[in-house]
Amino acid sequence: APTLELRQVVQTFYQAGNAIEVLKGASLSVLPGEMVALVGPSGAGKSTLLQIAGLLERPRAGEVAIAGERCERLPDRRRTRLRRERLGFIYQFHHLLAEFSALENVVLPQMIAGRSRRAARERARELLARLGLDARESHRPSRLSGGEQQRVAIARAIANAPTVLLADEPTGNLDYETADSVFTSLLDIVRTTGLAALVATHNVPLAERMDRRLALENGVLVSL
Ligand code: ADP
Ligand code: ADP
Repeated sequence: APTLELRQVVQTFYQAGNAIEVLKGASLSVLPGEMVALVGPSGAGKSTLLQIAGLLERPRAGEVAIAGERCERLPDRRRTRLRRERLGFIYQFHHLLAEFSALENVVLPQMIAGRSRRAARERARELLARLGLDARESHRPSRLSGGEQQRVAIARAIANAPTVLLADEPTGNLDYETADSVFTSLLDIVRTTGLAALVATHNVPLAERMDRRLALENGVLVSL
């Protein structure tokens, strides 16, 4: 069964009195361990789709299911909880907390989810080691390279063992070689943890390495 499912999602925005239909019945499903590329020109609605899949926005119409649970009409409190427990997010810019070490950045979301500091630190160490950052645990983000910062952001995104990973241009800020190596780590994590990953990207070679490619065209998704 798909871990992430969107059915006939519609989203409309109003700009200067005009209705803009960004999504006009977008449907997709992502299976466990699968990484699906979301492509399309700037302004096509990729971020909007990720915000809806990530329970950050509600669609005007259509269905959103995470691990079989319909979410589009759940109360905010339940959606927030699902977001914490089931979803991981990675963005183009790492958004790490500047005053905290790499380790603490991975510990914090776990403590917010109720894990003890000790257990959270243990898991953070494991994740950072797995991403090749064991020697960087105590560094603040500003002392890390761009690739290292994105690796910490990956560790943070999966710290609470989500079932769905949503990424918006996760390697968009990195040079070609670094992007490739960070992507390889991300793909490895998806494969070994059975996460369902939806990744918006303009990077064609990386999209080619994913399992499938979906393009947003005129508000609907088409398989490439
Ligand atoms: P992409 O990520 O593919 O570049 P977006 O989802 O960011 O596309 O945006 C798609 C369109 O929807 C754009 O025209 C954008 O200006 C508009 N849009 C997105 N979010 C909002 C919003 N909250 N309010 C009004 N318009 C929005
Ligand atoms: P991207 O680089 O991924 O296309 P954008 O800069 O288009 O990102 O959008 C960043 C965020 O701002 C998204 O969450 C999107 O929904 C929101 N957004 C985009 N356009 C508008 C808009 N016209 N009004 C309000 N929010 C917007």
